[in-house]
Amino acid sequence: MNRTLCTGFLLAVCIACLIVGFTYNHFFILVGAIVLVITSAIQFPFREEEGWECSCGYDLSYMHKQSTKCPECGKTAQLEWSSMAGELPRKTAKRLYQTVFFMVTSLVLFLIFAVLVFFKQ
Ligand SMILES: [Zn+2]
Repeated sequence: MNRTLCTGFLLAVCIACLIVGFTYNHFFILVGAIVLVITSAIQFPFREEEGWECSCGYDLSYMHKQSTKCPECGKTAQLEWSSMAGELPRKTAKRLYQTVFFMVTSLVLFLIFAVLVFFKQ
């Protein structure tokens, strides 16, 4: 939950920086790229055990078998079956793809910044 909020906030900052960067000062493209790198950095670590944890951090393997709610915060827990052991839970895998996308985008932004500064001179 906390990480989701942080990610949303940082993405908003990144977009604001990019808007300013492309309209007024190219330096802000660099700032946006750095913010995006930070955004992807806070997504770590990716653990298989995340599938067993509630968003509040409670270990759901201790949850009562008949219950569907987290005993700690009362959120509904959803069971997910994966065919193989050693596979990341769906939510974690989604976050991993998102992080790769952020990293690639920030790299592209660094390149755009470099090209813009290079052509200015
Ligand atoms: Zn919980």
